[in-house]
Parts: sequence; structure tokens; C-alpha cells
Amino acid sequence: MEKFVKVHVMHTGDLKYDRALAFKELDVIPPVNQRGEEYQELVPVSSYLIEHPNGRIVVDAGWHEDIRTQPKEHFGEDLYQFIEYRLPEGSSVREQLASKNISPQDLEAVVMTHLDEDHISGLQLLSGAKRFLVSEPEWKNVAGYKEKWYKGISFEAFELESIPFGPYKLGKDLFGDGLVYLVFTPGHTAGHVSVLARVENGWLLLVSDAGYAERSWKDLILPGNTVDEQDALKSLQWVQQFAQKTDCVAAIANHDPSVRPGSY
Ligand SMILES: [Zn+2]
Repeated sequence: MEKFVKVHVMHTGDLKYDRALAFKELDVIPPVNQRGEEYQELVPVSSYLIEHPNGRIVVDAGWHEDIRTQPKEHFGEDLYQFIEYRLPEGSSVREQLASKNISPQDLEAVVMTHLDEDHISGLQLLSGAKRFLVSEPEWKNVAGYKEKWYKGISFEAFELESIPFGPYKLGKDLFGDGLVYLVFTPGHTAGHVSVLARVENGWLLLVSDAGYAERSWKDLILPGNTVDEQDALKSLQWVQQFAQKTDCVAAIANHDPSVRPGSY
């Protein structure tokens, strides 16, 4: 059996927001386009396909196809006003999997790094996957209004276990073989996880939103939204340290425009 997994980075639409959402600089994050153009950022919304010898996993779900035709209903008024979004034909997680001849039924699991809108919006497009996983602290702290995005999906809220990695050395060894770890990196949200995948040439760290770009962990710039700044800093420090390891192939943030779709 192969001793590594393959990871495909997919861009499942784009998102435009005030840069204070990604890099903490203000107490209150302004809606998109309220400040000048120099404060605006256009970034991808990423989803990942991981091919493990025992099956396929998708990490995060990107935008739902509904945002093309009924964005206000899908997002709700507040979020609709707060961001700009784009989902070109063919780029939803479902459409990109279909182009690889993969249907949701072919997925062993869908893993959510956390339950923010830009990660769970497209979840129902993956209905039919065998399992849906989210960390227990994330599930316990999910806001009630988010239910519409995961209606009909039955989550397994996994307990954090002892693993060899992470700021707290807590998370989950997804297949029990050390090839894919969900690493507890809280602070942006209460139960945020990053994903550490053993690819052919070393470790690939899917940072998710613990940091929004490489400079987040190089310069220790917290995400604009945090539930706990101490935790967020501790998580970023761990990412910084891991990214410097010689066997770390890459550490990539979910919304970093410099990370292009491709495979590891
Ligand atoms: Zn996000």
C-alpha cells in the first residue's frame, strides 16, 4: 500500500472582502467596498480533494451553486451585504468532482475545518457522502442561524484525541495510519482544525483560516475574526514553526490568492 496521499487544491469560487477580515487591524470589520479599493481583497474559496489508499475525502465545500441564481436567499441579508462572491460555471465542488468522474457517493468523508459560511455554503452539494466530520468544540459552538446550510447533513462531531502535531497536540488521525491528521488549531473559531497530509515528498499543511496568507504566520498577523486571540496566536505560532520544517512541502491558507489550483 502507498505510504502517502494525493491532495488536489480546488478553487470553488471567489470572495471579495475588506482586508481587515483577513488581517486583524480593526475591532470592527467594514463591509466590502466601504473603504477604498486599496483595502479590498479578492481571494479564492478553496476546497480540497484528498486521495487516500482507502478512499477519497473532501475538505471544505466552498460556495453553493444557489449563489448564482438566488444569492440573497442563500446568504441572508447581512452576509449578502458584507461580501462579494463569484462562482463561475463548472467551479463548484460538485462540478469539479464530476469533471473527475467522482460523485458525492464516492466520498468516504467530508471534513469541515470549521463552520464559517464560506466553508459550509456548498455542503449540501456533497449530500450522499458516507460521513461528515467536524470537531466537537466546533459543533458545540456553531451559531443556530447556520443550520440552513447543513440541513439534512448528519455530522459526526469527533472528539479531540492525542496526536503528535499541533499547538495542543490534539486532533484526529483520520484513517488511523498517520497519513492524514486533523490538527486542532483553535482561535479563529472554537474548534477550527487544519489538515496535515503526508504527500509524496513530505507534509502538506492545509492551514485553512488559522492564517489567511503566508505573511500571516511569517509576521504572526491574526485573522480579522477571532473567538480567542491567545489561541489564534498559539495556532499561528505552530503553523510558523511547522512551515519551517524541512519535510514540510508547503503550508497553504484557504484564501491565499497566490496558491493556485493544482496537486501535491
Ligand atoms: Zn474562510
